[in-house]
Amino acid sequence: MQWKKTQTGFYHDGKLYPFSDAVDFLRFPILTPVEKFRLGTTILRASRLKDWRSIENVTVEEWLTGLSGSGVFNKIWRPLLRAKLGEEYKTTAATFLWATIQRLYAARNTGMKEELFGYLPGGYAAMLAKFEDALTSLGVTLRKSAKVQSIRRNEGGLCIHFAGGERVPFQRVIVTAPSAIAAQVCEGLADEEKEKHRKIEYLGIICASVLTKSRISNYYVTNILDETIPFTGLIEMSALVDASELKGHGLFYIPRYLRPDHADFARSDEDLQSEMLRSLKRMHPHLKDDDVVAFRISRARHVFPRPTLGYSTKVPAVDTTVPGLSIVNSAHVINGTLNANETIALATKEALRIHSKAN
Ligand SMILES: Cc1cc2nc3c(=O)[nH]c(=O)nc-3n(C[C@H](O)[C@H](O)[C@H](O)COP(=O)(O)OP(=O)(O)OC[C@H]3O[C@@H](n4cnc5c(N)ncnc54)[C@H](O)[C@@H]3O)c2cc1C
Repeated sequence: MQWKKTQTGFYHDGKLYPFSDAVDFLRFPILTPVEKFRLGTTILRASRLKDWRSIENVTVEEWLTGLSGSGVFNKIWRPLLRAKLGEEYKTTAATFLWATIQRLYAARNTGMKEELFGYLPGGYAAMLAKFEDALTSLGVTLRKSAKVQSIRRNEGGLCIHFAGGERVPFQRVIVTAPSAIAAQVCEGLADEEKEKHRKIEYLGIICASVLTKSRISNYYVTNILDETIPFTGLIEMSALVDASELKGHGLFYIPRYLRPDHADFARSDEDLQSEMLRSLKRMHPHLKDDDVVAFRISRARHVFPRPTLGYSTKVPAVDTTVPGLSIVNSAHVINGTLNANETIALATKEALRIHSKAN
């Protein structure tokens, strides 16, 4: 892992503002001094709150307006929440933001004086290739790009039916696909179990990866307060990773979170690209069309299980009523944020528990 200090920016009313340290915060022109004080105390109070259950049935809007006042809510929190959650922010629990603030503070609690971001040279692809080598050498069979159509129980045990017709028997199956998909592919679940999985409300994502001739900014994260920009934020990897990794190119991601049934999932790549580029050029007027070396769009409809009110009471059990079948996914991360650390911690805990139960 490589660790680096990064910079953050805010885009508001046609301008980019740095927001990386105390000096930037004091100079930040969007909030009055009283609003800055209220924003600071909100973050401090959220970082000190340990009893998340006390806010699990409060909407994030109610909670933040109470702590920060409506000025800070309308200028900062609402645009940020809308960018990430769309109109669904109105029914999202306060624990969503509490968990985000807790995660940011966790780095400080480790004793580090400053926040550092870590990246793995070569990215996830390098890590997955190592995993593949290690698992294959242990005799594990990996089937990649294999779509599971259904999982059924028969006299002999469980059987996975793959798209293409192949059927493979197993004694135990642990499904880690999102709940909406698990409910579709797992046959024989009780109606209430299926319903619990179907009721987990997901946000999907359309995310562009853009390679440019050179870096476009110094900000790893640019938060967007302008509600006419059609994406959540701008994540510039080239402001984080060493320039040699990308041979001097700029690489950034343009995420946009949407409900799984949003009509934009059906829009063509060309259409989305021209809309995103238009907004990007508004934010970075020096960027020209021929600076773009590659532009790729990915879509996933079920990515982020949104913490709704009383979320912890709605999560389905990991072990199902079908013998040998368990379902565990990021919907089981209760009062945490969606990130690789939480996912790996959950997977480790559940794998050990399921293994020891079976033996
Ligand atoms: C834009 C974005 C940026 C992120 N950045 C970070 C970051 O910087 N750091 C960080 O820690 N986390 C980050 N995350 C979060 C991280 O990606 C998730 O925490 C993690 O991917 C969750 O892993 P998972 O295995 O539970 O789910 P997923 O990664 O969603 O995996 C589910 C898998 O199930 C597969 N699947 C679905 N249906 C079927 C089927 N029928 N048959 C077979 N397979 C199926 C899917 O193809 C998919 O591969 C980011 C997420 C997004 C969307």
